[in-house]
Amino acid sequence: MRNRLIAANWKMHKTPAESTAFLASLFPLVQNNTSAEIVICPAMTSLAPLADAARGSSIAVGAQTMHWLDSGAYTGETSPTMLTAMGVTHVLIGHSERRQYFNETDTTVNLKLKSALQHGLVPIVCVGEHINERNRDLTEDVLRLQISVALEGIDCEKLGPLVVAYEPVWAIGTGHTATPETAEDAHKIIRAEIRRHAGEEIAAGTRILYGGSVRPENAGSLNGMEDVDGALVGGASLESDSFAQIVALFAEQPA
Ligand code: PEP
Repeated sequence: MRNRLIAANWKMHKTPAESTAFLASLFPLVQNNTSAEIVICPAMTSLAPLADAARGSSIAVGAQTMHWLDSGAYTGETSPTMLTAMGVTHVLIGHSERRQYFNETDTTVNLKLKSALQHGLVPIVCVGEHINERNRDLTEDVLRLQISVALEGIDCEKLGPLVVAYEPVWAIGTGHTATPETAEDAHKIIRAEIRRHAGEEIAAGTRILYGGSVRPENAGSLNGMEDVDGALVGGASLESDSFAQIVALFAEQPA
């Protein structure tokens, strides 16, 4: 049984004070949760205060992106060593908004994945097709290519911490959640591609999260799918009540 992981992607929302206030309001709401892992990915400016406030708790803090190098002349960037020094333990890699607005590619995803693994950060690699690709029946090709380039040249023994988030671009921030069956089909493709690269053991142990308009109303049915191991939540993670409800639904054993 893969341990559930629920990650919040706050994107460019919340000041440091708002971030720590959220955490204070989340703690009592998730105190009964002992099974699902919770990761909050705030803006860069909130990473250090949130990591300090979460220290010693069961809530982990992740970055929304990072550079793959340790240091250098890369104005505006943050390195993996800077993240770990703050107490950050997870990092999102290749979110579709990074690909769309900041020119991230499968190749930079591969560089970042290698770097995250080397620095002991848990990588959450985001993949997913655009609506025109789905309509042209290209979803499987797109997912296989994204996973295949992401994993290129990585020794499978190092891939134990890998987490993948399937985030169909057409579902992000649109309210059009994938049906549980659509998500399951995509997750099976992703797991098969991981298996092809890294073997059965790694594939069977890799958590594959679903992301794209996850809400308390749909979290339970997504959690019922065999290959859905958690969620990456954008909009609904900005309020502690709705995020805690999603955590509780994923913490339940599917029937
Ligand atoms: C996301 O940005 O990762 C995301 C899933 O957003 P939303 O839940 O708002 O669709």
